[in-house]
Amino acid sequence: HAHPKSDIEIAQAASMRPIMDVAKDKLGIEATDLEPYGHYKAKLSLDYIDSLENHPDGKLILVTAVTPTPAGEGKTTTTVGLGDALNRIGKKAMMCLREPSLGPCFGMKGGAAGGGYAQVVPMEDINLHFTGDFHAIGAANNLLAALIDNHVYWRQNDETGLDNRRITWRRALDMNDRSLRQITTSLGGVANGAPREAGFDITVASEVMAILCLAKDLKDLERRLGNVIIGFTRDRKPVLAREINAQGAMTALLKDAMKPNLVQTLEGNPAFVHGGPFANIAHGCNTLIATKTALKLADYVVTEAGFGADLGAEKFFDIKCRKGGLKPDAAVLVATIRALKMHGGVAKDDLKTENLDALEKGCVNLERHIRNLKRFGVKVVVGINRFSADTPAEMELVRKKCASLGVTAVESDHWAEGGAGAEELARQVVEAAESGESDFKPLYGDNTSLWNKIQTIATDLYGASEIIADKKVRGQIRDLEADYGHFPVCIAKTQYSFSTDPDYKGAPTGHVVPVREVRLSAGAEFLVVICGDIMTMPGLPRVPSANAIHVDDKGRVAGLF
Ligand code: ADP
Ligand code: MG
Repeated sequence: HAHPKSDIEIAQAASMRPIMDVAKDKLGIEATDLEPYGHYKAKLSLDYIDSLENHPDGKLILVTAVTPTPAGEGKTTTTVGLGDALNRIGKKAMMCLREPSLGPCFGMKGGAAGGGYAQVVPMEDINLHFTGDFHAIGAANNLLAALIDNHVYWRQNDETGLDNRRITWRRALDMNDRSLRQITTSLGGVANGAPREAGFDITVASEVMAILCLAKDLKDLERRLGNVIIGFTRDRKPVLAREINAQGAMTALLKDAMKPNLVQTLEGNPAFVHGGPFANIAHGCNTLIATKTALKLADYVVTEAGFGADLGAEKFFDIKCRKGGLKPDAAVLVATIRALKMHGGVAKDDLKTENLDALEKGCVNLERHIRNLKRFGVKVVVGINRFSADTPAEMELVRKKCASLGVTAVESDHWAEGGAGAEELARQVVEAAESGESDFKPLYGDNTSLWNKIQTIATDLYGASEIIADKKVRGQIRDLEADYGHFPVCIAKTQYSFSTDPDYKGAPTGHVVPVREVRLSAGAEFLVVICGDIMTMPGLPRVPSANAIHVDDKGRVAGLF
């Protein structure tokens, strides 16, 4: 199954159709309802989206995964392969994916537009500037930052009472740049303002990104932007963006970014690639507007949530589906033999050797995720993303294990073979979605207290015995209850374990989840609960993948993984 071509070579060898033709043939969308960005990318007009309101919804399929390991799982690749396979077996299917961030693109190897023969194209555009959404989000974020400092600079009889020492809004940049994490601004004298400590987050960590991804329409976007907390007064009352009248201009910068981006897969099927919030301090899935629109346009919509199912799927269900009124019909839990062996204790360098004992041991991780997904009332299909070193005996072991749990596991080979390699997975997904057995419900009710929401996730999904927090943090959570108690919680913890210790593989139980800090995302409308060290501005590794990226003699991007 091995093939010598890299992802970008496969993508560039593909012959793309004009996006207008894909939109017309596959979705019946006229050119007048699209705004082209070159030949192969287009935004869908918001008026057209409004006109779809009374169309029936298709089936919603979530792609999630076991706990990530350095071996890689392949959620995006599976999302694309499954979407192509659904089309091959005669279903009208489209995919909804996140837009990649520039940071990881130049940092660690690994794209976000799929891999092998299951990719969305034009991959170099999608991975680089695409349609400018992230630039717009960064600009809106930084407009607010500039307005805040300007407000402080000019103010006389300030009605907001904003305390210059308690400004919490940070600047944003779509780049891995550790030098900007913590900085001092306004140096150089009176004309430049009063120096203060500040910092940058990567754009995908900006609350503006989370807001764009959850907003129903431009009005809702503006309302949410106005609710953003920019800092606090001397007596610790929150000051909102609307108090300095920032929301209108921010919305103006974002009006095109709100429109879903249409591209195609290598097999010419339609996909929205739109929005891309972090999966730790935010909810980690593409925009609600793209998903809702896709449901109106297709009979099957396949979408991906970031990280493992403990983080990505939980937030997809408890934040996005709850807020957006979505009812998923099935979930595909992506697993690889490699990752499960790592959960069973095998080192990364030994993954190519068959090891049934370790695999059996590592299946506890898969088992925990299956159990968790069932708690949401959603029917699960396990998709085993095939790697070339996997053996038949290993595949059989995972299939049997899943069967004993009452779940179908299907091997799929879309990475090497495109949609043709995932047809059986597609058939099983159709069966699960059509069975009518899914009856989605969020894990906790809106009226559960914030503390109990965190506790429910930690004990029911992570296997923890309890959550703990300092008196100060407990007090903060208690104080937020009155005004924000109905918000869902957004847990930020390591993606590498059910626990808060990244080295604790498999399916830990009885561990304690410490809540270190809470941050209110009042515009996104969730409470971020920080359980561990969370990096909102990543750095580049010793040998960044930027070193290998260049433009070839024909003017094409090369070396992009
Ligand atoms: P995720 O969405 O879970 O982060 P991706 O689908 O982006 O994972 O895949 C991560 C990387 O692994 C990509 O570079 C992709 O090409 C590679 N990959 C995925 N599936 C396979 C496979 N079956 N065999 C070899 N490489 C794969
Ligand atoms: Mg992905």
